[in-house]
This record gives sequence, C-alpha cells and structure tokens, in this order.
Amino acid sequence: MRILVTGGAGFIGSHLVDKLMENEKNEVIVADNYFTGSKDNLKKWIGHPRFELIRHDVTEPLLIEVDQIYHLACPASPIFYKYNPVKTIKTNVIGTLNMLGLAKRVGARILLTSTSEVYGDPLIHPQPETYWGNVNPIGVRSCYDEGKRVAETLMFDYHRQHGIQIRIARIFNTYGPRMNIDDGRVVSNFIAQLKLLFALYRGEPLTVQKPGTQTRSFCYVSDMVDGLIRLMEGENTGPLINPEIEIKMVENTPDDPRQRKPDISKAKELLGWEPKVKLRDGLPLMEEDFRSRLGVPKRN
Ligand code: NAD
Ligand code: UDP
Repeated sequence: MRILVTGGAGFIGSHLVDKLMENEKNEVIVADNYFTGSKDNLKKWIGHPRFELIRHDVTEPLLIEVDQIYHLACPASPIFYKYNPVKTIKTNVIGTLNMLGLAKRVGARILLTSTSEVYGDPLIHPQPETYWGNVNPIGVRSCYDEGKRVAETLMFDYHRQHGIQIRIARIFNTYGPRMNIDDGRVVSNFIAQLKLLFALYRGEPLTVQKPGTQTRSFCYVSDMVDGLIRLMEGENTGPLINPEIEIKMVENTPDDPRQRKPDISKAKELLGWEPKVKLRDGLPLMEEDFRSRLGVPKRN
C-alpha cells in the first residue's frame, strides 16, 4: 500500500507515520511545507527505503501515485492558524481540493482530519456527528473553523459527484510528545509553565484564560492515531499541578468555546474504538518529551 500523509512532519502526522511504517507492506510519502512541522519529527525515517519526504505546499497540485491519502496538512493551534488567516483558508480549501483531485485521478481513498471546531461554541453536549454546530463565520477563528467546514463539504461533494471514497475524522484536543512547545495550547502551556519544568527558568505563572470554566476532552496521540487508522481501514464513511503554583487569570481570545466534549458512541459502535490512555498517564509522557527537548532535568 502506498500512502500519502500530508502534514506528516507535524505532531499527529509524525506519530501516524511511525505507526504506518510499522507495517512492512506500507510505503509512506510525506508532503509538508514545514510551517508548523519539522523534519526532526521524522528523522528516524529519513533515508529508509519505504519512506519519502517531499517539501510541498498542498495549495499547489501534487502529481504522484498513491492508494491512500491521510490529509492532515493545516496548522492546528490557534496562534499558528491565526498568524496568516488567508493562508489557513487556502490550505483548507485549495489544499483539500488538490488532495481530492489527486484522490480522483488515482482512485485513492482519502481521510480528512477535521476538527471539533466545526461545532464552534456548541450549544449541545456532548456533540454527536449529527450536530451542525454554532460557528461565527466572521470571527478570528473562522479561517480555521469555516475552512474545515468547507473542506468537509468538498469531501462529501467529491464523494457524491465523483464516487471518491472518503473518511472524515473530527478530532478533539489531542496531546502528547512532539507538540510544539510554544504553540499556546492549554496542555503545552501548562506543562511548560509548571514549576517542575521551565517556569523555574522563566518564572511564569500558570495562565488560565477567563472565565476559567471552559471544558475540553483530551485524547492522547496514540489513541488518536489508532482511531485514524481504524477509520481509514473501516467501512464507515496525576495530579499535574504543583499545589504551590501561582495561577493568573488572563484575558481570553474571542469565540473561545465554553464547553466541548464528543459523543463517541458511533466511533465505539462502528470502529470498535475508544481512547485507552488516561489523561493522568498521558501527561507524564508528554512532560518527559518536553523535558528532554528542553534539556530540563527531572526534579525529585
Ligand atoms: P501540526 O501543526 O503539528 O501539523 C500540521 C502539519 O501540516 C505541519 O507539519 C505543517 O507544517 C503542515 N502544513 C501546514 N500547512 C501546510 C500546507 N499548506 N502545505 C503542506 N503542509 C502544511 O498540527 P497537528 O496537531 O498535528 O494537526 C494535524 C491535523 O489534525 C490538522 O489538520 C488539524 O487541523 C487536525 N486537528 C488537530 C487537533 C489537535 O488537537 N492537535 C484537533 C483538531 C484537529
Ligand atoms: N487556555 C487557558 N490557558 C492557556 C491556554 C489555553 O486557560 O494558557 C484555555 C483556552 O481559553 C481554552 C482551553 O484552554 O478554553 C483550550 O485551549 P487550546 O488553545 O488548547 O485549544 P482549543 O481552544 O482549540 O480547544
């Protein structure tokens, strides 16, 4: 099986590549423009006979021959996707169009990593796949939210119009090793700000964005990769905080969803998938990764 992973040099993409490369029958091609990803995430595969890395921006057409496409390319963290919102929209819309064009030309099955952000600031909890969402079309997060909504629309239109085999995963907050340390997301911020880690060096408090009652559901990256592969292959479309840590309430960004939690009954029923790694077990693994990348020794 020849598999293309767009955005494969990023956080989730590189873990997906690790898993796909375990199967000796797979040949994996990564296309990435290195906006938020890095070759470092793939260094163990560079030079491997079944692996190929291409510097490529998905807003440009790509002419290769593949059997499956995992289409992940898109910055995922608000600070990166807001950095150049027009580019974020182009990546989602033109990028997805190009990958669908590729899927159509070569008859490949394509999986899009969409997002819980398609639900916007949801009005029902937990969110089932049937919920259409509550999204601000003109806000600062819209380039990502609406971009992914259009990407989903394109996927379904290519499926209906051209018979392309599609899969869509709406990913909720995923965490683990290789996340960008400075991406501003809550788990990376808190791990980075913990007194245990480099707050010792930077003297930063733990930043809780107001009102501080927002909720999310966190999925460890190995569970996410397992779910993505099941979806592609299936038939259906500890105590973290030092008690002495200082907490600072800081201003939030506009349109921040107040509550978010997926209804995963369909994934359980159709894919036999449910997360296995508890937050309590996953966070220390990510903390360990941040420590080794920053060269911070473990404190007793
Ligand atoms: P990431 O930023 O680590 O990875 C994205 C990758 O895409 C990077 O390697 C980046 O360089 C690449 N990229 C961006 N724009 C590109 C372009 N125009 N052409 C080619 N490559 C491009 O993010 P991630 O957390 O690994 O997210 C991967 C996918 O999962 C994204 O589609 C994201 O929207 C989706 N997702 C992630 C989360 C999460 O919690 N991490 C939640 C919901 C959805
Ligand atoms: N958040 C916070 N402190 C931080 C970073 C984020 O309180 O230092 C909050 C943020 O306001 C949001 C939640 O944590 O309610 C998750 O934010 P993140 O950016 O990680 O993901 P997303 O908003 O995309 O779910």
